[in-house]
Amino acid sequence: MTETRGWATHGPKQKLELFSYNDGPLGPEEVEIAVEYCGLCHSDLSIINNDWAISQYPTVPGHEAVGKIVGIGEQVKGLKIGQRVGVGWNAGSCMHCHQCMTGNNNLCAEAAPTIVGHHGGFADKVRAHWVWAIPLPDALDIAGAGPLLCGGITVFSPLLTFGVKPTDHVGVVGIGGLGHMGLKFANAWGCEVTAFTSNPAKTDEAKGFGAHRVVSSRDSGDMQKIANSLDLLIVTVNTPLDWPALLKTLKPNGRMHVVGAVLEPMPIAAFDLISGQKSVSGSPTGGPTAIATMLEFAARHHIVPQVEHFPMSKVNDALEHLASGKARYRIVLDADFV
Ligand SMILES: [Zn+2]
Ligand SMILES: [Zn+2]
Repeated sequence: MTETRGWATHGPKQKLELFSYNDGPLGPEEVEIAVEYCGLCHSDLSIINNDWAISQYPTVPGHEAVGKIVGIGEQVKGLKIGQRVGVGWNAGSCMHCHQCMTGNNNLCAEAAPTIVGHHGGFADKVRAHWVWAIPLPDALDIAGAGPLLCGGITVFSPLLTFGVKPTDHVGVVGIGGLGHMGLKFANAWGCEVTAFTSNPAKTDEAKGFGAHRVVSSRDSGDMQKIANSLDLLIVTVNTPLDWPALLKTLKPNGRMHVVGAVLEPMPIAAFDLISGQKSVSGSPTGGPTAIATMLEFAARHHIVPQVEHFPMSKVNDALEHLASGKARYRIVLDADFV
């Protein structure tokens, strides 16, 4: 078994350093993937910093890995050596619970995150249960595909889960790594799309990503102008907002769906939900079938995230770029181990 080389942090808020490790024999249901590209997601930063108090060190972050299969366990089905696959937030799940058996493996109580208690994709190799190694369609731009595997499925999942129709009106709050992909997906889905941003300088770009109109997420008066117009609002930011004002942009039966990890509680008045029969919900990434569906949709509609590339050896610069809010709009690390 050869050594794996990865970029690891040995404690909260420390810089990543080159780290060698040996994960032992490949499990019978596992594949090993030679990483070509790995997206850098805000959750990597949260795990590096132990923001969610679940980190285990040393941590090798990276959960938007794209590469070719180089090792295959004896019970792996449907995959072969040399095949190009992607691994997202989860690298495994129990495969026998109700959630796993109904394709909602991301909701499995034993779902195993790729970067918690498991070495992630900022490495020359990464492992996953074969179910979570999702084949990439040939038509997809491989160098830009990484961010679809976590960020992409996170904003695509509500469109699938809630049966959004092309006649629906969809809002996306926060035009960053997640949000810009949300605009692209909702537009390709056929919906009328509203972007909410706190940064007026992003207006033209938001329209370029597929928004039909752009509203300030900080100006309650601006939101008031589009009251009662949206069926679904996908919230991608991780900072508190004027939740009552956002809820008022929904039509009766509308839904505000949260995918950004806002750590502060969200104060919501019961009557704001009751009067228009509105819902507030959330979801974590998506299951393998949903990811495969999203990749097929992205390939067919030529949807790729807008990315900036850094060599993986410059991962600390890339993390700083992300932390300072300068990423436009998503970062991909190109594996450059020699
Ligand atoms: Zn399960
Ligand atoms: Zn992520």
